[in-house]
Amino acid sequence: MSLTKMKPHAQFRCTKEGCGKTYPLHQVIYSCEADGELLTVDHDLATLSQISPEEWKNIFDSRYRGRDFPFSSGVWGKKEWVLPEIQNENIITSGEGSTHLYDAKRWATDLGLGGLWIKQCGVSHTGSFKDLGMTVLVSQVKQMIADGVPIQAVACASTGDTSAALASYAAKAGIPSIIFLPANKVSTAQLIQPVSNGAKVLALDTDFDGCMNLVKQLTQEKSIYLANSMNSLRIEGQKTISIEIVQQLGWSVPDWIVIPGGNLGNVSALGMGFQMMKTLGLIDKLPRIALAQAKNASPLYDSFLNGFEHFQPVQAKKTLATAIQIGDPVSVKKAIRILKDFSGVVEVATEEELADAAAEGDLYGLYNDPHTGVALGALKKLLKNRIILKGENVVVVSTANGLKFTEFKVKFHQNEIQATNPKFINRVMDCKADFNSIMDTLQKHVFLHK
Ligand SMILES: *Cc1c(COP(=O)(O)O)cnc(C)c1O
Repeated sequence: MSLTKMKPHAQFRCTKEGCGKTYPLHQVIYSCEADGELLTVDHDLATLSQISPEEWKNIFDSRYRGRDFPFSSGVWGKKEWVLPEIQNENIITSGEGSTHLYDAKRWATDLGLGGLWIKQCGVSHTGSFKDLGMTVLVSQVKQMIADGVPIQAVACASTGDTSAALASYAAKAGIPSIIFLPANKVSTAQLIQPVSNGAKVLALDTDFDGCMNLVKQLTQEKSIYLANSMNSLRIEGQKTISIEIVQQLGWSVPDWIVIPGGNLGNVSALGMGFQMMKTLGLIDKLPRIALAQAKNASPLYDSFLNGFEHFQPVQAKKTLATAIQIGDPVSVKKAIRILKDFSGVVEVATEEELADAAAEGDLYGLYNDPHTGVALGALKKLLKNRIILKGENVVVVSTANGLKFTEFKVKFHQNEIQATNPKFINRVMDCKADFNSIMDTLQKHVFLHK
């Protein structure tokens, strides 16, 4: 079977066991009409399996960081697995994906790990991994508008990164965007992104969960399309993270993936990427997944402690990891299903632990945002508690660019974040501009011993 002759189909399918109801991808629908459960994008694996695993690997490798539109994007390089039927002319891409898999060799040695890689998903057009999903959603909306579906605008509730991605991709496509943000709860850098891209930004006097409820109401009006991860189209692109990780490791599977979670859409996307590779024969085992939450917003951790028997939403408390300050995650059922399939665990990081872990990682050359800090803090705890074992290979998904969180980094090094480890704090040394003063200062504070 050749790639050009192959015509795989994709559709929405209800995620409730035994339901199986399907809907076309151009229908404006976010949950099943029969039972209200979330949908997933369902791929035509029979057709996709007509291409052998080795051929798929060659196809993906030949497109990786290449030149040809749209395959030069890390997401669209896997087009047949993501959104096979979209016309290329409707694809809105900003070169998302194909991010560096940072080999933290020196840190791995210090921690006694076999290998430690940080997948730099935040090194992306709008500075977070939300770009991977947004390119798919906005492209599909463009396709739907071209096909005559009456959509006037796209809308989302956001803790910052979703809105930045939506505003940019919508502006590129020429589609109006509407954004609900919790007032005073996102960083300045995050707020100014959608403002700059011309989105209609409403700062609401509530938290993320409150914004989410209101945007759900707004998008009952079918001409305003919902761009949150509750809409499963939004996480189809995120799935390519798993494929890229395996590809970058020479098509081998690490023992663990650690990922921070808030609304919990991304962890299920990550899992689906691995499952799809396994079904189609590109890999023969699955990694274990560790989902990391900020202790101040950790309803899934509570549920994990009772073996996922019940789940109770919480009121999220303030955390430095603002993008995951979520107490009532929309995709919790999907996440639990995936964690069970991947012998998954949930771990938390306190404010001090996340800040220390981010700063410690920076000393190995990274530049971590607080969410990656949550994942790194959880990794350290899992190692200490011997859940992750010495010698194992670990990939941590870094979800945002540290440059979006300058205030967090400045506060840390000015010792304004309480109870953190002073050994990670690095201060600027004031010094007179003459050679002797410089030598005195360096001898006092640094490594130059007489
Ligand atoms: C959205 C986001 C997350 C969490 O993803 P969910 O799907 O909501 O769990 C983590 N980190 C950053 C930086 C994010 O923007």
